[in-house]
Amino acid sequence: MKLARFPRRRYTPAPTPIHPLSRLSAHLGGPEIWIKRDDLTGLAGGGNKTRKLEFLVADALASGADTLVTVGAVQSNHCRLTLAAAAAEGLKCRLVLEQRVPGSYRPDASGNNFLFDLLGAEAIRVVEGGADLGGEMDKLAADLITEGRRAYIIPGGGSTPLGALGYVVCAREILAQCMEQTLAFDAIVTASGSAGTHAGLLVGLTGAQAGTPLIGINVRRPRAEQEANVLRLAADTAAALGLPAPTASAVEALGDWVGPGYSLPTDEMIEAVKLFARTEGILLDPVYTGKAAAGLLGLIRQGRFSKTDRVLFVHTGGAPSLFAYQSTLAS
Ligand SMILES: *Cc1c(COP(=O)(O)O)cnc(C)c1O
Repeated sequence: MKLARFPRRRYTPAPTPIHPLSRLSAHLGGPEIWIKRDDLTGLAGGGNKTRKLEFLVADALASGADTLVTVGAVQSNHCRLTLAAAAAEGLKCRLVLEQRVPGSYRPDASGNNFLFDLLGAEAIRVVEGGADLGGEMDKLAADLITEGRRAYIIPGGGSTPLGALGYVVCAREILAQCMEQTLAFDAIVTASGSAGTHAGLLVGLTGAQAGTPLIGINVRRPRAEQEANVLRLAADTAAALGLPAPTASAVEALGDWVGPGYSLPTDEMIEAVKLFARTEGILLDPVYTGKAAAGLLGLIRQGRFSKTDRVLFVHTGGAPSLFAYQSTLAS
């Protein structure tokens, strides 16, 4: 595979840890749950977007850009980490924020929104849910051209084939850790949003013929729609690496834990966030990993795994947004 040929910046000094969640597993009476700590990647506050940005920012620098332009929801972890990468590389950064929940933007909100300002966002353009986000980013890029500057546009979540390479790297890292620790997993569970994480992991696992089922838990879309998105991005990512596309049967993106919609709380999310915090001291987030963990708990209760199965939960980060959900999560 051609992975090493793509220019890459490095924002995380070492592999992120994999470790067992013994107290959580005992509390649930099995399966044996393990965690991949991608909440501990580099850049301000960490999370899955850091891995995608390693490839995307390398490409931006190669293009001669001086400014990153990207888009996200009002509490976007992706926007926080893109700002942090820009600061670390001496670039500027401008954001388009999409109000996926009508009226959800508050300039004085805490969590990631506060960090956008702290990390030096040069401009923030707030648009309605469903707006033409590509067009809005093009406008910001055009403004920069009139100032004699050059933008590099990063689509939502960094979920392009280039960004998804970050999670091909993660899959290979997981397999190397399994080899070192003489570990084998019966399933891997991840949140599935803009699909780069899910697609990248899938390409990395199938490319290595790992044979481990990958289960996505959707945070925004119904199952069929998300599975089509994941399959499309996985095919494009595999093509970029000269690998065969994963088959549709390898794509599982469950829509049962989205609840009323993206970023809107569910009782199952609240239960999962509290359970991980109180049994393991691990902070999940309300928008992504809380719902993914709710899916993991739901699948366990449905009998999807045997008591002795080993299941790896990929912690994709997001805890900085907890501070914008205090009223939802406080006891
Ligand atoms: C963006 C995000 C996800 C979803 O990853 P995608 O690659 O967009 O599917 C999961 N967890 C957190 C914390 C995120 O910020």
